[in-house]
Amino acid sequence: MPAMPELPEVEVTRRSFADAIDGATVTGARLGKPLRWPLGLEPERLLGGRVGAVARRGKYLWLPLSAPVAQGGLLLHLGMSGTLGFSAAAPAPACHDHFDLLTDRGLLRLNDPRRFGAVVWSPSLDSGPAAKLLAGLGMEPFDPRFDGPHLHAGLSGRRVAIKLALLAGDIVVGAGNIYACEALFLAGIDPRLQASKLSRPRAARLAQAVRGVLAQALEAGGTTLRDFKDAHGVAGSFQMQAQVYGREGQNCRVCGTPVRRMLQGQRSTFFCPRCQTRS
Ligand SMILES: [Zn+2]
Repeated sequence: MPAMPELPEVEVTRRSFADAIDGATVTGARLGKPLRWPLGLEPERLLGGRVGAVARRGKYLWLPLSAPVAQGGLLLHLGMSGTLGFSAAAPAPACHDHFDLLTDRGLLRLNDPRRFGAVVWSPSLDSGPAAKLLAGLGMEPFDPRFDGPHLHAGLSGRRVAIKLALLAGDIVVGAGNIYACEALFLAGIDPRLQASKLSRPRAARLAQAVRGVLAQALEAGGTTLRDFKDAHGVAGSFQMQAQVYGREGQNCRVCGTPVRRMLQGQRSTFFCPRCQTRS
């Protein structure tokens, strides 16, 4: 099974079609089987709408639309298995194609076999359904305000393991399972350490590491951009260069100790028992 789309995949997806669709006019919209949440308006009301600059917040994409009838935009999420592709041609929908936005520049299509993805109409990014869905999200990792002190403050008072505090996504977004494991390795932090016990200098190192692994994944995604059928290729090609993720039993690239795997919150954590310490 391909990996769930994470923030880098979503950002690579955004970059793959944002320029092409900016300024396009909607000429048709089609819904397939129900997705995670309903669209929230009749698809016909999107017709004639002009697409603006596509933005990303966490793992959501925002497609602003100024329509003759409805003013607002579409909030898209890839769920567990979604891919979003933009193509000049408009082939007939296949069985897992559950949303089409046809424009005068080409077709934006969501393919989502497991249908945990979503396309939701919202009057703006900070009102209506979008505001609700985005409310709990932490800071963007590449926001200059995301730094050691911000992370340290967010972790204070949290009694959960540091890995789970990162996965929660309410301090910083983007540190999904792969990237949380890798960032903790790079920062030399034991994933079981209680979040509130992380020192300020180590919080600074961890913030740097989170940004670093995500930047590296984005770079890896850039190389898979040309064949955009496979959005999940980002995680795949990133994993090839992973330090600990998916490497149980193999030697740590730094110290040679076998990498270990354990479960934290039903997710696999990979770590080096020697390089990653509690203090
Ligand atoms: Zn090691």
